[in-house]
Amino acid sequence: MDVAVVGAGYVGLVTGACLAHLGHSVICVDNNPVKIEGLQRGRLPIYEPGLEELVRGGTEAGRLHFTTDLSLAVQVSEVIFIAVGTPALPSGEPDLRYVEAVAREIGQHLDDRYRVIVNKSTVPIGSGDWVRMLILDGAAGAAKQRLGSREESELLSGGDREATPFSRGSLALQISPRTPQFDVVSNPEFLREGSAIQDTFYPDRIVIGSNSPRAIEILRRLYEPILSRQQGLGGDPVPLLVTDLASAEMIKYAANAFLATKISFINEIANICERTGADITQVATGIGLDKRIGRAFLNAGIGWGGSCFPKDLSALIQTAADYGYEAKLLRASVEVNCEQRQRLVEKLQQALKVLKGKTIGLLGLTFKPHTDDLRDAPSLTLIEQLHRLGAKVKAYDPIVSASGMREGLAHVIVETDVFRLAQDCDALVLVTEWPEFLSLDYRHLAELMRRPLLIDGRNCLDRQAVQQAGITLIGVGW
Ligand code: NAD
Repeated sequence: MDVAVVGAGYVGLVTGACLAHLGHSVICVDNNPVKIEGLQRGRLPIYEPGLEELVRGGTEAGRLHFTTDLSLAVQVSEVIFIAVGTPALPSGEPDLRYVEAVAREIGQHLDDRYRVIVNKSTVPIGSGDWVRMLILDGAAGAAKQRLGSREESELLSGGDREATPFSRGSLALQISPRTPQFDVVSNPEFLREGSAIQDTFYPDRIVIGSNSPRAIEILRRLYEPILSRQQGLGGDPVPLLVTDLASAEMIKYAANAFLATKISFINEIANICERTGADITQVATGIGLDKRIGRAFLNAGIGWGGSCFPKDLSALIQTAADYGYEAKLLRASVEVNCEQRQRLVEKLQQALKVLKGKTIGLLGLTFKPHTDDLRDAPSLTLIEQLHRLGAKVKAYDPIVSASGMREGLAHVIVETDVFRLAQDCDALVLVTEWPEFLSLDYRHLAELMRRPLLIDGRNCLDRQAVQQAGITLIGVGW
């Protein structure tokens, strides 16, 4: 099938590359010319394991293309994904201006052929109908403009000097296209950065929100290789859940709200464990063995962050408020999470007392391992707070350090390896559970540090190994 993906970011680029791998002809559109130029030369704007190879494969097979020209992409595609960002505004509401711009522009370029426009961006409940309206607005605006310029040129050429209201009306009829034939569908994305390709090829489910049998059938065909495990994809068939538009939009928000709340829940239990002498890792194992609960997302630590959970919870809380409902549980989930970041600073204060003039080293910067994404990463809060308290902050992150990436990083010295980081540190704080931090030469680290103190903000280190190296280890919830 011919597919356009608008927005070549973490979601759009992965979606485009995966669909091309499955045999579709995909054109990825982004309005950032630097990104597109890089992609045309095989340079990826983001780090995602396996993506470079997948993009190269799609490009070499002639099934994956990159452009800044949305009109071209709309012309040649039957299915058009909107996968642009929906970051949070200061009010907590999602900033929908990118979705709005794309929807209007798609409308401007639609012709008589039927298209399925797919909202893959995470958008508030009701956005499907809103996007439909914007597309129609865009189409009407473009038709009006074409009518205006045709009238003008006919006037200039003198051809329409005798134009009557009747003849002008028939000109409008000739130029304005019929109402564009399209359906807007919600197809929320559940991929996780760091395992995005695996998540796309092996999803737990695919959700399609639509009332149009025609659009649903087209998307079912598009996803058929994933649904029925073709093209070398093994494993069990993937459930396809078809819902109405609003429910599909809500499924995305509810899923993220549940996962974030599960983490806040275990962090709250961890805080009680610390005070009572219980050990959260044993408690999490004990409750996680209950099939109704499950072990996933029960790792106590510094709390959640990233480009999705914070903004999606804010958006859902805001939506509830718009409908006169106070989402108390979700508010509490956010509050626990904010305080959890603060708890790591308190642990440092308890151990070191005054932080002014101390050197603190952060192991990891990204919000999770196997990504370069720093959006709303807990490390950023930590850096700001430690800086405000007068500490010198250094950091080492396997991807950020290697890529030389500095955007959004103020008040921190980024070191090139873990031993340079440890040099003269009063404490190290493990912020991101990158695999390479799990088996470090802790003895050597201890020798390099001014004080051998390590705070494990993810409870991921082998306690015995670290302590046997002579390091004082402090965790979360034990
Ligand atoms: P992103 O910021 O990485 O990518 C968005 C891209 O859209 C950027 O490359 C930007 O240049 C481009 N863009 C903006 N306006 C445009 C326009 N008018 N025309 C063409 N391109 C335009 O964002 P992302 O992380 O990929 O997220 C996209 C959406 O998917 C968001 O709504 C997000 O909530 C949702 N989502 C993200 C994830 C994730 O893990 N990142 C997971 C599930 C859902």
